[in-house]
Amino acid sequence: MSAVAKSQLSREHSLAERVWKIAATVCDPEVPVLTIEDLGVLREADFADGTAKVTLTPTYSGCPAMDTMKADVESALKAEGFDKVEVKMALAPAWTTDWMSEEGKQKLSEFGIAPPTGRAALGRTAQGKVSLSLQVKCPHCGSLNTKELTRFGSTSCKALYSCNACQEPFDYFKVH
Ligand SMILES: [Zn+2]
Repeated sequence: MSAVAKSQLSREHSLAERVWKIAATVCDPEVPVLTIEDLGVLREADFADGTAKVTLTPTYSGCPAMDTMKADVESALKAEGFDKVEVKMALAPAWTTDWMSEEGKQKLSEFGIAPPTGRAALGRTAQGKVSLSLQVKCPHCGSLNTKELTRFGSTSCKALYSCNACQEPFDYFKVH
């Protein structure tokens, strides 16, 4: 490989890292304390053919916040001098709450939203069918004595819960 081609390659490699870092600063419009990196929504970043390429996987197929996130990623990269930006949506493999970083779950809790319980909440019934048994922990007092008020909370990604121990309502970020 020629020295020029090699330096070109390492330049593109570091540009891909920059694309990731810039995209990683974009926050979830619904939970402004969480970045799309915390959420695990940011899947890939690359720089090729003069184009910054980012792949996002929506947390929920009908999540209206995805359009906002896509536009935010585009404008964040354009503001940093990337003229050509491509944001792809990858629907498979489907997003799971396991992709959410520990830091992300921590931030969610501090924001007053119960973090998802993830795959650990999956159990099998006698028939071998997978059932989701959720014990949603209250982010205010930590009680597991909570009840679901509505399946759809302030947005389609969250459900509204109420705590029987401290009587505080809270949003629960749904497990997919
Ligand atoms: Zn409580």
